[in-house]
Amino acid sequence: MEQQALKLSEVYGQGKPVISFELFPPKTDGGMESLFEHLKELVRCKPAFITCTYGAGGSTRERTLEVLRSIHAAHPKMPTASHLTCVGSSRDELRGYIRRAVEAGVDRIVALRGDPPQGETAFQPAAGGLSYAEELVRLIRDEFPALGVIVAGYPETHPEAPSMAKDLEHLKRKVDAGADAIVTQLFYDNGDYFRFRDRCADAGITVPVVPGLLPVTNLTQIKRITEMCGTHLTQKLVRRLAVHGDDDEGQFSVGVYHAARQAEELIEQGAPGIHFYVLNKSRAAALICRALALFTPVE
Ligand SMILES: Cc1cc2nc3c(=O)[nH]c(=O)nc-3n(C[C@H](O)[C@H](O)[C@H](O)COP(=O)(O)OP(=O)(O)OC[C@H]3O[C@@H](n4cnc5c(N)ncnc54)[C@H](O)[C@@H]3O)c2cc1C
Repeated sequence: MEQQALKLSEVYGQGKPVISFELFPPKTDGGMESLFEHLKELVRCKPAFITCTYGAGGSTRERTLEVLRSIHAAHPKMPTASHLTCVGSSRDELRGYIRRAVEAGVDRIVALRGDPPQGETAFQPAAGGLSYAEELVRLIRDEFPALGVIVAGYPETHPEAPSMAKDLEHLKRKVDAGADAIVTQLFYDNGDYFRFRDRCADAGITVPVVPGLLPVTNLTQIKRITEMCGTHLTQKLVRRLAVHGDDDEGQFSVGVYHAARQAEELIEQGAPGIHFYVLNKSRAAALICRALALFTPVE
C-alpha cells in the first residue's frame, strides 16, 4: 500500500520553514524533457511538496496530469498537488478530474476559480459549474475528504475585488469551507505580505498563510507577469534590474539576491515557509534554498 502523505496541518505544524515548488505543464515534449532535468535539481532541495498549475479552461488538463504522474513515478515519496480551476467545467467534470488526479498520485488540490477567458472581463461559470473557489473547496471537502486543500490569497487584493475588506471576507469563506492553507500571489515588497498576514489573523483566519515568491530573472518578463496579476514591483528592484540592460546574468543575480533577502526576512518574521514559483527552472530557487539552508525533508 502507498504511504499516505502528511496532512497539510502536520506539514506546516513542525516549526520548520516548509518549501514547496510550483511548476507549469510544458506545451511541448522538449519542454517536458527540460522540466524533468530541472526537477532533479529541485528535488535535491528537498521540498515538502511540488505543485503543477492547470491551464485556462482546462487547456492543459492532460499535460498537468502527465507532469504529476511522471513526478510520482520518478519520486514516489514526493507529495504533489494539482491546481484546479472552475473555468469551463461542470461539477461532474471537476469530480472526474479530481479522481484522475488521485489516480496520478496527487495528495492535494490547489482549488481556484480561475480567470475569465481572454477577451472577457467577468467570470462566467460553466453550465452546471461553480462560480467561486469557495464552492470548489466545499466540493473537495465533501467528496474527497482525504485530499489536502490549498487556496489562493492576495496580499495586494485580488484585482476584481470591490475592496480589500470584501476580498478578505471571501478568503475567510474559502478557509471556513475547509481549506488547509493559503498560498499567496507573488509579491516583491514583504510589507505587503506582513500587512496581509495581520489582516488574516484579525479576520480569524488561522491556517498557514504561505508567501509565494517568484525570483525575477528578466525585467521584461516580470513586468508582463506583474501587470497581469496586479502585483507591484518596487522602484528599487526595477532600478537595479534596469542597470543591467540586456545582460541576462546581471538581471538574474539581482533577482536571486532580492528573492533571497525576501525569503530570509519572511522566515525570520515567522512565515510558515516559502512557495517558489519556479517557472520550470531550478537555478534561482536552488541557489536561494542552498544559500539559506532551506530544506524540508520529504519524510
Ligand atoms: C497560488 C496561486 C495559484 C494559482 N494557480 C492557477 C492555475 O493553476 N491556473 C489558473 O488558471 N490560475 C491560477 N491562479 C490564478 C487565479 O485563478 C486567479 O487569480 C483568479 O482570478 C482567482 O482565483 P481564486 O481562486 O483566487 O478565486 P476566488 O477566491 O473565487 O475569488 C475570485 C474573485 O471573486 C471574489 N469572490 C470570492 N468569493 C466571492 C463570493 N462568495 N461573492 C462575491 N465575490 C466573491 C474574490 O474577492 C475575488 O475578487 C493562481 C493564483 C494563485 C495566487
